[in-house]
Formats: sequence, structure tokens, C-alpha cells
Amino acid sequence: MHLEGSCHCGEVEFSLTSAHPYSYQRCYCSICRKTQGGGGYSINLGGDANGLKVKGRHNIAIYHAKMRDEEHQQAHTSDAERHFCKLCGSGLWLFSPQWPELIHPFASAIDTPLPTPPEHTHLLLDSKASWVQVQAGPKDQQFEQYPKESIAQWHERLGLVR
Ligand SMILES: [Zn+2]
Ligand SMILES: [Zn+2]
Repeated sequence: MHLEGSCHCGEVEFSLTSAHPYSYQRCYCSICRKTQGGGGYSINLGGDANGLKVKGRHNIAIYHAKMRDEEHQQAHTSDAERHFCKLCGSGLWLFSPQWPELIHPFASAIDTPLPTPPEHTHLLLDSKASWVQVQAGPKDQQFEQYPKESIAQWHERLGLVR
């Protein structure tokens, strides 16, 4: 599926190909909450890094999240690059050197109408803010941490690879 996305002010536009465009993941971690606003759950799609086209790249800044390790009381910086528009603050996509062939665009930045997921996966519930309520459907899965199922595996299980 061809996806087109943009930031809110319109100074950054991008497009890419996605075999995994269902926005089924809801992440409740503090990075999503603080950087995406509200109760969090930024929703990542799976896209192909190869075909990524960007207009207005000079307006993009990258945030490397600070990760605090509760057990060892140490902070380290995440390798993952959270790309956002430095003019309006919109989150655009995540790139991780762990998966160099992939781009994970935020569903919030995509302008192409996305298909509706038949079920959701709620993750990192151990970081959920106390005031956020999980709105889970009957088939939804819930995880305190990350699910083992990847974005690609979820699409394969439900026969939704495009
Ligand atoms: Zn912008
Ligand atoms: Zn998150």
C-alpha cells in the first residue's frame, strides 16, 4: 500500500510503501505520552525504508529517547531515531538501526485513509498513566511489556498483508 504523510504545519511531506499498514498497536509508554501528547499510544505502521521519499527534510529533527533503567538506576539513550518536524512538533516516523530496512511511520502523520484494524494490541501497560483507561475490544490482546508478535506477524496471522 502506498502511504502519504505530513506534519501538521505542512513543511514536511513524505511517502513510502507499506505491506503492514494496519494501525493495531496502542502503546502506553511515557515516550508516546510525552512526545505524542494526551494518553499516549502512538501507533506505528510497518513501512519499507527503501522507497521513502521526503520533502522538507531540513525541517526534521531527531529525538533519541532517554531510557531509565528502574533496576539499575541508570539512564541510557535509545538508538531509535524518532523523526519529528522541528517547526510544529508533529511526530513523523521511527527508524531503528536494529531494522535498517524498515521505517515505522506514526499513523497520526499519515494522510492516506488507513484500513481499520479488526483487533488491537495494547502494550507497555506497566507504563500507563493512572488516569488513562484502556478501551479494549473483545479480541484485543494486552501486554505489560512488548508483545512477542511483530507488526509483520500480526498482519500475517490475520491474513492482512497488502
Ligand atoms: Zn511541521
Ligand atoms: Zn510507546
